[in-house]
Amino acid sequence: MQNRIDRLRRLMSGRGIEAVLISHPVNRRYLSGFTGSSGVALITASDAVLITDFRYVSQVKEQSPHMTLVEHASASLLQTVAEECRKRDVKELAFEEHHLTFAQHRALEDALGGIKLRPVGTLTEELRMIKDEAEIQIIRDAAKIADQAFEGILKELRPGMRERDVALRLEVMMREMGASSSSFDIIVASGKRSALPHGKASDKVLEKGDLVTLDFGACYRGYVSDLTRTVALGEPGEKAREIYGIVLEAQVKAVEAIRPGITGVEADAVARDYIREKGYGDYFGHGTGHGIGLEVHEGPTLSIRGDTVLVPGMIVTVEPGIYLPDFGGVRIEDDVLVTDAGYEVLTHSPKELILL
Ligand code: ZN
Ligand code: ZN
Repeated sequence: MQNRIDRLRRLMSGRGIEAVLISHPVNRRYLSGFTGSSGVALITASDAVLITDFRYVSQVKEQSPHMTLVEHASASLLQTVAEECRKRDVKELAFEEHHLTFAQHRALEDALGGIKLRPVGTLTEELRMIKDEAEIQIIRDAAKIADQAFEGILKELRPGMRERDVALRLEVMMREMGASSSSFDIIVASGKRSALPHGKASDKVLEKGDLVTLDFGACYRGYVSDLTRTVALGEPGEKAREIYGIVLEAQVKAVEAIRPGITGVEADAVARDYIREKGYGDYFGHGTGHGIGLEVHEGPTLSIRGDTVLVPGMIVTVEPGIYLPDFGGVRIEDDVLVTDAGYEVLTHSPKELILL
């Protein structure tokens, strides 16, 4: 954890930031190890302060021994932040502009008096993109849980089940394997609903001939996996087989393109260009992938807006899809680690079309 704070300080000094308030709970967790639901971190060149209330005092001592603990009692959290800034003679306090409400900003401004506020877009998020060995191992384990849940659900999927029954079984299996929860609301989209890229499990009953897209992942020790497979309940027909084959080929090509030095735009283009060549460009409307870690959508993004250059230690999803309205859709998604030599796929579920 101390190493993460050192990396943050290098970023801060490069940008002329003397002090930063970390209010996003995920960023605070990344830097402090503290998993409680209330508190902020204040990082300066010489201090790393964690401000929280009495409920969390002993937890902070245990989880964040590298940080100075400040308990805010009668003063509000933000008044205490201002107080700690004054003690350290801070002239300008940077804050996470995406993670402070308008009301909080106003209250902080009032409390700070003469200390200036400076918005920063991303800071800790940039550090979080590159995982260390411990993080990689946890995500590997989270990916394994998703793989095993997929293997398990294949034994149970049959016509007559409702989509939400399937989602519940996936969730139960992942929790039995040690997940604290699923990474996000599980997507089970069958038949025509499989044309909805984010079709959350509904009351729809699975029918023979349906394509069924399952998109789920495990949250394990704070980190997530994200896996999608599309299977067929019996023979899905020629059109479904055609789009399945195109998505699979696009996905494999994009995975094989992952390596240090490639940008998110370039990786995205590998899948997108192939799908376009095959005549389905209009039916692939989302990005090819996104980073995963403490959050299910984090940097870098593999899309037409993904200007980040991939470097070893990043973990991204690769998940092209084709969605035909009133027909159905296919998406295949793996989690991929960028390595020195290229890539390593962390999810291992089979990708050939499975007929159940
Ligand atoms: Zn997913
Ligand atoms: Zn995803």
